[in-house]
Amino acid sequence: MAPVDRPQHERYDYICIGGGSGGVASSRRAASYGKKVALVDASPHLGGTCVNVGCVPKKIMWHAADLADRLRHAAQGYHFEGVPEPKFNWATFKPQRDAYIRRLNKIYENNLGKEQVEYHPGHARLTSPTSVEVTRPNGQKYTLNTEHITIATGGRPTVPSEDDVPGASLGIDSDGFFDLEEQPKRVAVVGAGYIAVEFAGVFNALGSETHLFIRHDKVLRTFDPMLQDTLTQWMEHSGIKIHKKSGVQRVEGEKGKPLTIYNTNGETTEVDCLVWAIGRHANTENLGLEELGVKLDKKGDVVVDEFQNSDVKNIYAIGDVQGKALLTPVAIAAGRRLSNRLFGPEKFGDDKLSYENIATVIFSHPTIGTVGLTEPEACEKYGKDVKIYKSSFRSLYFSQVPEDHKEPTVYKLVVVGEEERVVGVHIIGMGSDEVMQGFAVAVKMGARKQDLDDTVAIHPTSAEELVTLR
Ligand code: FAD
Ligand code: NDP
Repeated sequence: MAPVDRPQHERYDYICIGGGSGGVASSRRAASYGKKVALVDASPHLGGTCVNVGCVPKKIMWHAADLADRLRHAAQGYHFEGVPEPKFNWATFKPQRDAYIRRLNKIYENNLGKEQVEYHPGHARLTSPTSVEVTRPNGQKYTLNTEHITIATGGRPTVPSEDDVPGASLGIDSDGFFDLEEQPKRVAVVGAGYIAVEFAGVFNALGSETHLFIRHDKVLRTFDPMLQDTLTQWMEHSGIKIHKKSGVQRVEGEKGKPLTIYNTNGETTEVDCLVWAIGRHANTENLGLEELGVKLDKKGDVVVDEFQNSDVKNIYAIGDVQGKALLTPVAIAAGRRLSNRLFGPEKFGDDKLSYENIATVIFSHPTIGTVGLTEPEACEKYGKDVKIYKSSFRSLYFSQVPEDHKEPTVYKLVVVGEEERVVGVHIIGMGSDEVMQGFAVAVKMGARKQDLDDTVAIHPTSAEELVTLR
């Protein structure tokens, strides 16, 4: 079914506002139960953040950066002859990456069509708890009437105001990163979370002089301290200049020309590109939510209960717009379960997503995987009942590369009580992104340390360390 430009039904069962991970998943699941479903999306490119300016192009760039490291290892450690220092051609790679994303946009559209979800390109605004006004890209408006509405409008990057940081608008955000036509020779990334460490890692491995400005002395401060320490040290070791305990005070220069960053330590740094990666906030403006009494919290996220209900009957919110666990699989799972509950067969009952023990990966260099409680969180919750198992080693792969290329691997299990139930797994090192998923299943099933010990190791791998810890 091609995109439509007017209502095809007098009344719908369900409307999703937002065609990102959450909205697409929820609308398709509802339609699979034979419901009349419309999805409204304001972006020219369907699929939302993950597909267009998030997980997918980011992971592709991570692969490019990872390859650069491997090529260095091939030449310097693994005796491949004729492998020069890698030189990445950002300018020719970008259009190829973009073309792949455009194909995905089309696949998303086709998938909506296959499930008979009506796709309405345009900006949506609630005009009552049962009606949505759509403004098409050409300005034309029409109204859709429905029983249920889900807000899945996601979020966008936060950038400091010019009042807070004069010259801040000379920088770009994570959306702008994906628009870069050329690789900056010198780049500053500001922030200490997922995006900051992922982007800094990519720039550095691809050969940009990379500066990271962090407000404290470590990256990823909400993660287990072992991960903070290991990654901060390795980022510095691998050549990223981390400006610790330092904020950006003002930026001077012109767009497209070198920028001078004045930081709170009195240092100045000249770069060709500045990227803000200091968090995101929800797209809840101009949606008519306040007028209908849909409660937002101080940050502007939609307040929902455990079933994704807002405090207005039949209006729900899923994904980034509700501010908890801003991850694609979370938006998808919450969206599908909401549709199961509202429209699915009885067996689903009060289906809902549990936000406990959600595993996550950071595509840093090296990668990080984590699930469950950090050591400090476990100690706060369980006191003396907490026991830590930890192993620090080099993956076999690095046995053949020069000393200063040998990335660390550190694994930590957090267990509690006499039965040693595993409540946290935190790993950093080559392959951690792929190792994590299976251990997340184990934690979700309530695995004990003994269950891991009873699992025969797979050799020689890094992952085997997690079932042989003593
Ligand atoms: P979105 O995907 O943001 O979709 C919201 C949609 O709503 C958009 O298409 C928008 O145009 C539309 N919209 C907004 N307002 C309106 C309106 N009024 N009317 C109509 N449409 C509207 N997560 C991971 O799990 N793994 C990763 O590796 C990962 N990497 C990331 C890298 C980056 C750089 C970023 C920024 C995010 C990353 N994420 C990752 C997070 C992930 O992208 C988000 O959690 C996910 O996309 C959220 O999905 P969503 O459906 O809630 O919102
Ligand atoms: P995060 O919330 O992960 O990190 C932002 C960090 O920036 C803060 O933790 C803070 O660290 C620092 N910060 C905040 N304000 C400022 C400021 N004014 N100046 C300097 N530093 C500041 O946000 P991101 O933007 O990195 O990512 C948004 C979300 O997207 C993530 O939380 C994640 O859920 C999702 N995402 C997931 C990915 C994945 O799954 N691999 C990849 C990318 C994003 P501190 O307090 O230490 O200063």
